[in-house]
Parts: sequence; structure tokens; C-alpha cells
Amino acid sequence: MRKVGITTTIPVEILFAAGVVPVDLNNIFVTHSEARRLVEIAETAGYPRNVCGWIKGLYGTVLDSTDINELVAVAQGDCTNTHALMETLEMEGVKTIPFSFPFDRDRDLMRAQIEKLMRYFQVSWDQVAGAKEQLDTLRKRVWEVDRLTWEENKVNGLENHLYQVSCSDCEGDLTRFASKVEEFINEAGQRRPYEGTIRLGFIGVPPIITDLYDYIEEQDARVVYNEIQRQFSMPFECEDLVEQYLLYTYPYHVGGRIQDIYEQVAKRQIDGIIHYTQSFCFRQIQDLIIRKKIQVPILTLEGDNPGKLDARNKMRLDTFLEMLR
Ligand code: SF4
Repeated sequence: MRKVGITTTIPVEILFAAGVVPVDLNNIFVTHSEARRLVEIAETAGYPRNVCGWIKGLYGTVLDSTDINELVAVAQGDCTNTHALMETLEMEGVKTIPFSFPFDRDRDLMRAQIEKLMRYFQVSWDQVAGAKEQLDTLRKRVWEVDRLTWEENKVNGLENHLYQVSCSDCEGDLTRFASKVEEFINEAGQRRPYEGTIRLGFIGVPPIITDLYDYIEEQDARVVYNEIQRQFSMPFECEDLVEQYLLYTYPYHVGGRIQDIYEQVAKRQIDGIIHYTQSFCFRQIQDLIIRKKIQVPILTLEGDNPGKLDARNKMRLDTFLEMLR
């Protein structure tokens, strides 16, 4: 089947409607057994040292793959580095299709972008509506995984992260992913609830650090809210596709994210927040806004290359958790 890479969440309904397999390159990269090698592919090609590890990893992932020659890249609303990512991949013969989330949430522009992508994949609104129905049913089950995390305390932070982050491409197969989610809900529902741990929120881009959630749990704390990952599951009832991608908070003004964080912190009784920032990412600047607006203790944690937590970050986490305790 035709596989198409994506650089972040896009209206994936269109790809499923077209019978195409979406592949979120971030998920392939960060779970790859040789993720560092993928970064090195980019650095060897000439990517500067002071460029975000995710971007370099995405470049390496595409070049390392044997079956991804086509890519939908979010040119506005995710990362400005994506422009150069597209240009350098095009030079290597990869077909790139830009998609833009309008910064001011302009409805007409959003519709125009969606219809442009539909024309590229040659699908109608009826076909897209059919795919959306299937995705909506599946996403609601992922909301249940999230509810089991914060309300019933039966799902850990890593599991919560993985199921929600997978909603960007549903692991390329709606039916298989739906069964996987269902099986997990059945198993998790029978667990004994976690008790008495510190309740954390994780905000910011998904972590490039591979053992973060495990380490947090070893310290008797648990992430009960993964902000951006939850957004990938489109956590709101919405029949209109254009409206759905306008409600999605990640690509727009940080104010929408702050409102969402504010509500979820109260609802989930969160004791403290980890704001994850990626080295060399423009979103690091938003930390100063978030710190002014969110009134719970915040630890800003920075990651660079894929791999385990370093000693410095472990020590900072220990101190933060001790302070919360
Ligand atoms: S972490 Fe920041 S710099 Fe890196 S890809 Fe994401 S938005 Fe871009």
C-alpha cells in the first residue's frame, strides 16, 4: 500500500479516505532502536549541530526508510524548521506536500487547506466524512484510555502518552489500532488503581527522552495529563472537520493551549507540571508565558538528543518531586 509520511498531526481523515497509509515520522524516529544514527544521517548531510533533534531525526527517518517517498509536511503551525526539512528532502527526491494551519484560526483558510489536500489525494467530502466517522469512534475509545488514567488511576503515564500520540496516524491501520485500544481498555480496567502518587501534568512537545515516564514512576509520581498528546486524540465532540482542526490547540496561539492546560489541571487535580522543551526549539520561549499564566509549580525540563535522562535532569526531577512532596 502507498505510504505517506507526516511530520505532525494533520487531517488524517483525508489520507484514510484515500486508502493511503499515514506514517507519523516522529513515532518511527523516537521508537527506532538506532534513533541516534538517524540524527547522525542529518548531521552528516550537513544539518547544523544547533538544530532540533526531532527535525534531524525526521530527515534521517525518511532517508533511512525504503518505502516513504512522499510526505505531507506542516509548513505553518508546527515548526519553521519544517521549511528547510522539506527543501532538503525534496533535493533527495522526496515528494513533499505542504499543509498549513492558519495562525489566526481563519475558517476559510482552514477549509481551503483541507480541500487542497483533498484534491491532492483525490477524495470527496463524502469519503472524508466516512473516514471521520470511523476515526471519531476510535478516538472516543482513546479518550477512555485517558479517563482511565486520571479518573480511575489504572493507566500509567507512558501508556497514556503512547495511545494518545498514536492518534496522529493510528499506526497506519484503523481496524488494527481499534482492536489494540479495545484490548488495552479491557485489561487496564481490571487493574488495581495506583494510590497516593504525586499527580503530574506533562506539557509541551512529546519528549525525545525515552525513559522519562519510567523514571517519574520510580520516584512514586505519575503523569495523569499529557497535554499535546491528548490534543492528537481530538478530545472534543465535533461533527464538522474544519471546526475540529480549529479547536485543536497545538498549531495556534499559545493562549488556547494555556486555557486547555488550566482546565485540565483543575479537573485532574494536578500537583505540578513538567514543561518539556526541546533544545533549539522556538517553543522554549513560550515557557515564560506559561509560567506567568499557570499557577501550579512548574519544572522546565530540556531534552536534546534521543536517549535516556541524563544525570542533571534526573537531579532536577528529584528536587522538583521532593519539593511537591
Ligand atoms: S521540538 Fe520545536 S524545533 Fe523541534 S520539531 Fe518540534 S517544534 Fe520544531
